[in-house]
Amino acid sequence: MKAVLDHVGIAVRDLEAALRFYRDALALEIEAPEDVPGQRIRAHMVPVGESRLELLEATAPDSPIARFMEKRGPGLHHITLRVDDIRRALNQLKARGAKLIDEQPRPGAEGALVAFIHPSTAHGVLVELKQPARPALGTAPDTLHPARHPAPGTQRPAPVGRVNLGDLELISLSDGFFRLDGGSMFGVVPKTLWSKTTPPDERNRITLGMRPLIVRGTRTMIIDAGLGDKENEKFCEIYGVERTRHLDHALAEAGLSPEDIDIVLASHLHFDHAGGFTVRDGNGRLRPRFPRAQYVVRRGEWEDATHPNVRTRASYLLDNYVPLAEAGVLQFVDDDQTIMPGVKVRRTGGHTPHHQMVLIESGGRTAAFVADLIPTTAHVPDAWIMGYDLNPLDTLAAKQRFAGEALEKEILIFFEHDPAIAAGYLREENGKRGIIPALS
Ligand SMILES: [Zn+2]
Ligand SMILES: [Zn+2]
Repeated sequence: MKAVLDHVGIAVRDLEAALRFYRDALALEIEAPEDVPGQRIRAHMVPVGESRLELLEATAPDSPIARFMEKRGPGLHHITLRVDDIRRALNQLKARGAKLIDEQPRPGAEGALVAFIHPSTAHGVLVELKQPARPALGTAPDTLHPARHPAPGTQRPAPVGRVNLGDLELISLSDGFFRLDGGSMFGVVPKTLWSKTTPPDERNRITLGMRPLIVRGTRTMIIDAGLGDKENEKFCEIYGVERTRHLDHALAEAGLSPEDIDIVLASHLHFDHAGGFTVRDGNGRLRPRFPRAQYVVRRGEWEDATHPNVRTRASYLLDNYVPLAEAGVLQFVDDDQTIMPGVKVRRTGGHTPHHQMVLIESGGRTAAFVADLIPTTAHVPDAWIMGYDLNPLDTLAAKQRFAGEALEKEILIFFEHDPAIAAGYLREENGKRGIIPALS
């Protein structure tokens, strides 16, 4: 049994005071909290090198954490050791007389299996064993991606997820869901492979999320803005649009309004990314959706979007962006450059010749908003490239370059169209890649 320190759990009575120490005084980054309703606990993970601290708050008076603090006060609650095979580890411990709280592993956070060992065995410390969820790494070649995507019609509205990255705050939003033909979404990959993890509906369509990203730093930026609400019933029927909860709800949940946005950054101008850039006012006139914002668009993309051809015109809808030019709120970028401190764009090409991704860097950490370069976690394998892409070999080259960087720098990757996973980390085992989910 090879055990690795995964995290140290600390029971916290006054979260604000704890954050003043761990976040402010120690300058550590705190991940978005995760609720464990069964335990009536809210966990705040704090990465410290290879392992993490876990600040544990009780969410109800009968929570085990509340009971623990009644007896012993706040402080060290448990340590968690990561093992490859939790069942074998438990058998081994039992054979050597260890007192176990859990004889069988049970489900823990993030899809892991966990079991507790009694403190009387572990010399006064509660020890948790954890076998992390395996995102299908190193298993059958057609199950490289971690989560089975929800069947169409069963997806839940994505909650607002926050991550701190150095001096920046990243907030993942949702503009609801839509559906596209599964074959078109996976290009040359046979349906027998993609349908295993991404089940299609009766019209062969798969469900996609639309997840714009807020970056808050010296200014407040939104990257892409979903579909918006200008499309008619026929359009919404064809594309299976489901926007009962959309971007306005998500912004409100994040404590923001369209007036708070200083910069709107476009990955490219397809309708599922730029539809939310404009709205129709009471007089039927189109105007910018974010009244104070400058809209930043790659010049080549603008040229292509305003001169669509028979292949591209179903995706480029002029009402989404021509009104921005008329309102004088457009800013063009010609090169890979910094848009605001910590945020720079990089042209990937491929999907469209001037499609760009966004790299976000602060406090020594990097996040990437990859847009349609890797639209969902199912598109992580190199050859899983959309049939929609105009230059698939450029997509391939950009994906390969990015994958190397993502592994080396532990980049937090935001997946704009994944219906279930907002962001995660790329992992490679035995030459196979998968995603460790970080934000749903
Ligand atoms: Zn696109
Ligand atoms: Zn798209």
